[in-house]
Amino acid sequence: MRPPVVVSDPAVLADRLHAWRSVGSSVGLVPTMGNLHEGHLGLVRSAAASVRHVIVSIFVNPTQFGPNEDFARYPRTLEHDLAQLTGSGCDLVWAPSVATMYPLGPGQGFGVSVPAELGNILCGDARPGHFDGVASVVLRLFNQVGPDMAFFGEKDFQQLRIIEHMVNDLSLSVRIKALPTVRETDGLAMSSRNGYLDSGQRRQAPLLHRVLSQCVARLDAGQDWTAVQTEGLAELATAGFDVDYLALCDAETLAGPDPRRPMRLLVAARLGSTRLIDNLAVQPRGTVGTS
Ligand code: AMP
Repeated sequence: MRPPVVVSDPAVLADRLHAWRSVGSSVGLVPTMGNLHEGHLGLVRSAAASVRHVIVSIFVNPTQFGPNEDFARYPRTLEHDLAQLTGSGCDLVWAPSVATMYPLGPGQGFGVSVPAELGNILCGDARPGHFDGVASVVLRLFNQVGPDMAFFGEKDFQQLRIIEHMVNDLSLSVRIKALPTVRETDGLAMSSRNGYLDSGQRRQAPLLHRVLSQCVARLDAGQDWTAVQTEGLAELATAGFDVDYLALCDAETLAGPDPRRPMRLLVAARLGSTRLIDNLAVQPRGTVGTS
């Protein structure tokens, strides 16, 4: 089986899209920063089951990294990614250069300003401007590809909600499909950043998911959120995590939780210099269900 074709020239992308569109084929987009793992591949397989042609974009987006973040060392592994995508249902990899993506320069051109109540909370609090960068690059990708559907992981839950709100607010004609977080067998959410962990940190990392699961069980049992949060934070701190937040939010608006509505429990914490995130669903009070 041959790997998908890699395209970096916007004119070539436009030609390919025109050919597909002219015979009425649907197109799906899976935006990624590369260093692909099973989490990404699940999105690709879901896309292939839903649309005729699947484009995976691979672009390490400079505008979503802060000045002291890992943009320079973020893993760029195109050969490995193409091997992973072979046979996955991906037809084309869109791998634009920074100049193609940002003709006026990264951070210099037009961009999306995410409303503060969505973009400055949770991860946006510790990473100012991050979600403006995410939304701006995703809007550019949508404009370049014009997908019928685009596929995102619940792993990046705040990002997913922001994209959904952007699509709604700007009346973009793309359907967003969300897929559950794919985990390692020990529960750790798959992430390109897991590769930064040393062996000791890797052994500690699954605790993030275990603590989230325990918190959800306590909430399901009717315990008070403040008490649950205090215990969760203490457990993570004892294990050596430097926690940015452990928060309970409304699952749709990301605002403060209303126990009668679906909620989301989200966490971000550092092990050494590696920042990990994870989240789980929390059912409304008075209902029975799994997360
Ligand atoms: P990234 O390459 O990290 O920017 O991620 C690209 C897409 O893959 C985003 O929609 C992520 O939410 C999704 N993704 C990353 N890791 C996972 C995972 N473990 N499970 C499901 N989706 C994921």
